[in-house]
Amino acid sequence: MPSSKPVSRTVKKVKPAIKKVQSKARKKAPAPEPELVPEVIAFRAQKPRIDSKHAQFKICIKKGGIHRYGIFAGEDMPKNRKVTEYTGERINRRETRKRSEEQGSMIYLFTLDSYWTLDGAVGGSGAEYINHCCDPNIRVLVTKGHILYMTKRAIRKGEELTVDYHFSKEIERIPCYCGSPKCRGTINVK
Ligand SMILES: [Zn+2]
Repeated sequence: MPSSKPVSRTVKKVKPAIKKVQSKARKKAPAPEPELVPEVIAFRAQKPRIDSKHAQFKICIKKGGIHRYGIFAGEDMPKNRKVTEYTGERINRRETRKRSEEQGSMIYLFTLDSYWTLDGAVGGSGAEYINHCCDPNIRVLVTKGHILYMTKRAIRKGEELTVDYHFSKEIERIPCYCGSPKCRGTINVK
């Protein structure tokens, strides 16, 4: 266990969420739903790096984030602007299930819709290192099959970038240590 947060437990907890995805009818990728609130299924840190071609602002990765590494603003950012895109290999439900069960490997899975998941471990932009916070400064916009990380408010240089992972309330609770006054005590939604 590399740090204070339960890495392998995080992976374990993804199973119920995936089952939920499996229960839906098999079909090709549906049109993106603007109201969809994506769920970061699992998060695990490895050899952190940022692919700056996806970043619209200067961002940097360093230790000392909420959870080990974090992504920090390298410059001031106005509200409601694209910061970067969550990229990764596009995998189907079967592959998502397989990878989520491979606890020995690094896992960064982000549900794009009911069928597709992006695996940030393969071709990730660095957005996969953005930590969870219950009062985040980044919001997620899913549009045309892309997962965009937008500023939710103005962000000052040096601030850590955070996003709400929205873990399902139907899976085991994962404690949150974000430290926000609005912290709900768990990464799961209530
Ligand atoms: Zn919290």
